Amino acid sequence: MTSTAETVSKPLFSKTVPQWFILTVVILSVVTIFAYRSIQVMIVQNRWVSHTHEVIETIGSAIGNLYRMQGDVRGFVISGQPLYLSDFVATRPQVQKEVIKLQEMVKDNPAQAERAHAFFTAVNQRFDIGETTIKTYQESGFKAAADRITGGIGQHQMEEVQKLASVMQDTERELLAQRESDAHDAAYTALMADAFGVGAGLLVLSLVFWLIQREASRREQSEVQMQRAIWETQQISNMADFLQGCQTTQEAFEIIGQNLPRFIPGTRGLIGMINNSHNAIQTAKCWGENSTCPLEFPPEECWALRRGRIHLYEGDQNNPKCSHIAGNPVASLCVPLVAHGEMIGLLYIESEDRATFSEERTRFIRIVAEQASLAIANLKLQETLRYQSIRDPLTKLFNRRYMEATLEREISRARRQKQPLSVIMADIDHFKKFNDTYGHEAGDAVLMEFGKLLAQHARSEDVACRLGGEEFILLLPGADMDCARERAELLCRITRQMAVQHNREALGNVTVSLGVACYPEHGELPESLLNLADVMLYQAKRNGRDQVAIAGQTGKITANKE
Ligand code: GH3
Ligand code: MG
Ligand code: MG
Repeated sequence: MTSTAETVSKPLFSKTVPQWFILTVVILSVVTIFAYRSIQVMIVQNRWVSHTHEVIETIGSAIGNLYRMQGDVRGFVISGQPLYLSDFVATRPQVQKEVIKLQEMVKDNPAQAERAHAFFTAVNQRFDIGETTIKTYQESGFKAAADRITGGIGQHQMEEVQKLASVMQDTERELLAQRESDAHDAAYTALMADAFGVGAGLLVLSLVFWLIQREASRREQSEVQMQRAIWETQQISNMADFLQGCQTTQEAFEIIGQNLPRFIPGTRGLIGMINNSHNAIQTAKCWGENSTCPLEFPPEECWALRRGRIHLYEGDQNNPKCSHIAGNPVASLCVPLVAHGEMIGLLYIESEDRATFSEERTRFIRIVAEQASLAIANLKLQETLRYQSIRDPLTKLFNRRYMEATLEREISRARRQKQPLSVIMADIDHFKKFNDTYGHEAGDAVLMEFGKLLAQHARSEDVACRLGGEEFILLLPGADMDCARERAELLCRITRQMAVQHNREALGNVTVSLGVACYPEHGELPESLLNLADVMLYQAKRNGRDQVAIAGQTGKITANKE
């Protein structure tokens, strides 16, 4: 997690969606205007189609009425029935009305208007011929009227009218075909525009939907990353808090060993520190199920330590596997622990899942390692200072200050627990002669050798100190006088057997004088016990050195001389 939420969602949504919205509006507006215009054209063309139909029908109706009028004239001439005459009289204004309407309808077309005018004249002439025939019948009788009819004047005029009507109807039919085609084209264009508009709208809507979906998923991802970053920060700060409270490096290793498997579950690992000689990484803490941690390994076995940078192994050829890795993990991460510019150790984590060491997780581990390195380095420094403040640099035994504090504490404890406590004070005999004979360094060698011996014969609860010069003290909590005497005698004896060499040259025999005082019988205060032990030491010196003198037993000084 993150780490800081590195992939903060880009504000793509807020920028692009309005753009797409504007584009959609523009496309839909253009398409709507286009479709509207096409529909208008279609309506106009349809109107013209109806108009043309009406023109054709009006011509047809006028011609039909003319034929009816011709029939009425003939019926009247043949039968003399007045009904035919009244029909004839009624038909003329009706036909005239139709022809006038026709003229009105085609006046926008000059050629048709001219034909309509000619048609009007021809129709009137045909009616005039009919009227003349009726008048002839009424004035001159059937024969004269029949002769006029059979003479063909009416028929001839009728053909003229019919011819004009045909020309007009043909012209209108041509116009009709053209207008129907235009109306069809307009309808098709409107349909296409609508289809395109709907398609484009759907496409843009799908795109916007996709953008919204993508944005939502990015936000969700970013939210998850942010939550993880917050969690990581909390964890790191919590761990750093505990590390700050640690008093020893071991405590710090425990804290790290507890936290890391929690931070990165399902992993195994170790934290190793480089030794003082810088030739081995020593495992300080190991964690994880079935983990097989080496106790120590040379730093050269780790690519991270060799190169001074994080080393990720993922089972492929890109990055080699470190030879300190005992098992066969799917992936492993080695992080050098560096503090104040110095390599102090290694954090090693292995996993059976390749995805464990994602970029974000690796960054998190790096931060954890940095925190751990700093805390460990500080604790090491504290430990060194503490060590230096309580240890004698030459013999590595405790110093006077530490001894005095410990003696006070141990006497209190002995008083509380009603336990004895003994003090053995030792001084190397004629030490000056080693300095004088073999030099100061040879004297130091004697001091170191005796210090080692004292440390070797001290139990874990004992405190072996160098008071200064060639004087030493051994505090024995829980040891009574007999026990202390035995120990002092042992020290006296084994010092005598101690062989010290300096520059391959054997130095002479070393002997030591020892004074013993015990709590509570010889004193209940630290100073009184130390004074008495000192007094007994000088008693042993006075008695000839290389022996033990025990307080309260001045009459029977223990001499161990063989
Ligand atoms: P005695 O048996 O009476 O104790 O005789 P001694 O020679 O051991 O005692 P003395 O007090 O005469 O001499 C102690 C010498 O130890 C004097 C001093 O120079 C030397 N000395 C003190 N500290 C050191 C040290 O750290 N290293 C070395 N090499 N010598 C030291
Ligand atoms: Mg001495
Ligand atoms: Mg001395």
